[in-house]
Amino acid sequence: MEVREQIDILVELQRKDVDADAVRTFLSGIAQRLQALEGNLASAEAEREAAEADLAALRKDYRSLESDVKANLELIRKSKSRLPGIKTNKEYQALLKAMEETEKKNSRFEDEMLELLDRIEAGEKGLEQRKQECVQADASFTAEKARLESESREGEIRLAEIAEARDRTAQAAPPELIKIFTRIQKQVESPMIVPVRGNTCEGCNIQIPPQMANELRRFESLNFCPFCNRLIYWQRPSD
Ligand SMILES: [Zn+2]
Repeated sequence: MEVREQIDILVELQRKDVDADAVRTFLSGIAQRLQALEGNLASAEAEREAAEADLAALRKDYRSLESDVKANLELIRKSKSRLPGIKTNKEYQALLKAMEETEKKNSRFEDEMLELLDRIEAGEKGLEQRKQECVQADASFTAEKARLESESREGEIRLAEIAEARDRTAQAAPPELIKIFTRIQKQVESPMIVPVRGNTCEGCNIQIPPQMANELRRFESLNFCPFCNRLIYWQRPSD
């Protein structure tokens, strides 16, 4: 097989591998985007749940104070009904003092309840906002998911096509050539098969010796760049 033909096959195999890599990068980008969207949705839901829990705790505190106030009012009512039956002034004063304390306590509780009402109102607004954010995250997840999955399917098809074409090229090539390809693939970084234009290796941008450039022009054998070890072939500067 002519050296030119061999180079054509090697370049074609390399091109297929580069194309496949590009599709794989594209596919992993899609997977990452999907993950990010799922993450957004999950964190929006977690925030909504946290807001719900906060609000429930505030309402529980409020109800607890409310029942304390109610119990205290009942206590005051009972004490008041006892007042007329009390014999000594000392006992009378003691009961009045206890009633006064309970009223003070209730007034403190009522202040706390007002404060809680403000926080409950703010919590309700916050929860409403969290719910909206969930709806938005869910909508953009659903919409983008369909689009991304369809792009992903197209990418998989493209990848299969590339693999098939590469297999065809590889199967038609002499096994020796495939061995060379596999060897340089392990030895140098991509691109591993590069043209030399105007005596410059396009892999490392160093000028190769003129003698070697002349050999390349004759296409008599496969040659490697003495500086970067890539497989090199001559190409007219205008190509
Ligand atoms: Zn080089």
